Amino acid sequence: MTEHENRRAVGQVKEVTSLANPLVKDIKALALKKFRDSQNAFMAEGLKLIIDALDLGWQIKTLVFAKAGRGNQAVEKVAARTVAAGGTVLEVSEKVLSAITRRDNPQMVVGVFSQKYRTLKDVRPKNGDVWVALDRVRDPGNLGTVLRTVDAVGAKGVILIGDTTDPFSLETVRATMGSVFAVPVAKATPDAFLSWRKSFPGLVVGTHLKGAVDYRSVDFSNRPVLLLMGNEQQGLPDDLANSCDKLLRIPQAGRADSLNLAVATGVMLFEIRRSALTLEDRP
Ligand code: SAM
Repeated sequence: MTEHENRRAVGQVKEVTSLANPLVKDIKALALKKFRDSQNAFMAEGLKLIIDALDLGWQIKTLVFAKAGRGNQAVEKVAARTVAAGGTVLEVSEKVLSAITRRDNPQMVVGVFSQKYRTLKDVRPKNGDVWVALDRVRDPGNLGTVLRTVDAVGAKGVILIGDTTDPFSLETVRATMGSVFAVPVAKATPDAFLSWRKSFPGLVVGTHLKGAVDYRSVDFSNRPVLLLMGNEQQGLPDDLANSCDKLLRIPQAGRADSLNLAVATGVMLFEIRRSALTLEDRP
């Protein structure tokens, strides 16, 4: 980014201190799914996360930063990138930023991005690829944690089946710690999923409390793997369970009936990806 571009971006910054400002009202409305969907937008907080999102090609609509960010080189660089991408830059008071993020001590920078979903047609797994399908996941913390874990193990993406919590809610985005930008997400009705599943070129494993197979006894290597996880309250319904090649169980001791969905997904993913992960993997 050149000096000239930086100055140009700073010149285009709109200063906003009123909660009644229509731009601020639109961003605040993103707390509701109805408005996230009608604006095809969502909010993410934090400078590093926004830089990562831009680097990964996500489209930024609006950058909001607190007055404290004025003169901060990194913030000004992101502002310049936002302007270059055709987005709007707002410098706001702490009060406005708190209202937007619904937090007392908000991050200095908030980005509004366009939502992005893959279609099932885009999901064409190769050997070694792992995808996770979540049946009607309800809890934003669970979905965010699964997206983060999928990212961490190097799995390829997540398919949301049926009526699920929103991957672009602020709560889910927060729980992903930025992985929402790194992990492709597709949505499907149960029927669309079941018909797509027929052409899945690898192993489809479901996890089930009545599963007869110990998850540690399966060879997951050298083929695409699709891991199917059940809803928090009801587990996998019969049609989804019957579509799996195997139903696996994670053995448990103690009094707990089951594991938390995100924990069970993590246990499964680290087993499926066991041979692919080494301590040397990370730069
Ligand atoms: N009451 C639900 C049931 O009957 O399945 C419990 C669902 S559990 C909280 C959410 C999901 O995590 C399950 O559908 C399953 O996919 C997975 N899960 C949790 N514990 C598991 C275990 N011990 N073995 C296999 N899967 C498990």
